[in-house]
Amino acid sequence: MMKSPSPNSEKGILYIVSTPIGNREDITLRALRILKEVDLIAAEDTRHTLLLLRHFGIQAPLTSYFEGNEFKKKEFILSKLKQGDRVALVSDAGTPGISDPGFRLIQIAIENQIPVVPIPGPSAVITALSVSGLPTDAFLFKGFLPHKSKKKRELLQKLEEAKETLIFYESPHRLSETLNDIFDLLGDREMVLTRELTKVYEEVLRGKVSEIQTLIRDRKLKGEMTLVISGKTRQERFKNRKNEKFQSSNTTPSEKI
Ligand code: SAM
Repeated sequence: MMKSPSPNSEKGILYIVSTPIGNREDITLRALRILKEVDLIAAEDTRHTLLLLRHFGIQAPLTSYFEGNEFKKKEFILSKLKQGDRVALVSDAGTPGISDPGFRLIQIAIENQIPVVPIPGPSAVITALSVSGLPTDAFLFKGFLPHKSKKKRELLQKLEEAKETLIFYESPHRLSETLNDIFDLLGDREMVLTRELTKVYEEVLRGKVSEIQTLIRDRKLKGEMTLVISGKTRQERFKNRKNEKFQSSNTTPSEKI
């Protein structure tokens, strides 16, 4: 077992700093203090983070850390941490590491005994779940669904039996196809489509999959979306079992052979 190094050690510290997913008022006081105090901020999108920092009057050296440069950049950031620097990792929005490249930097920091300190705050997955009205005691967050239709459908098929509430990130131009796949493979379940949470055009659509399909049919939805879908309910499982029994009692002897 690897014990976490103390944040008071000689080594630097990697802070995982959550930032707003839309509304800037959602930043925490601690996040603001840490962003002011660190020696370096590693940001997924430096232009976006610069706007945030300017808004709060924070000046700090920035470096980029995104999907395309993460392999090269993590060595540079690690060298800073090894020389005792305090580095804040921020993503475009929300909590770093949740469906964005932060995870690899966190991994390499842990391997090098660098303390990793969470500065918690918003994340789209929890924000969407919190207003969904669907059970929150157990949920399965699958990040972005695969882009390739075959892989997406295979994943949905695997999730068909899951009792947990399901959560996916999805982009507007794949939404309609994804809803068709969800309807086909999971059935006409209760779901919640959340869009632009905490922003001016925040929207939360609740209903059966087919109702959401109807609601969005003539609309060109834009913006950031998170889908929350009911897990397989006891009722559905019961219905399926009854159907199975009904089918087997309806099969003729020759069909059973
Ligand atoms: N690390 C981020 C977090 O903790 O929320 C998520 C990063 S992921 C690259 C971005 C995706 O999160 C978007 O494509 C969208 O599906 C979802 N998302 C981000 N902001 C959102 C918002 N304001 N409302 C709904 N979904 C959002």
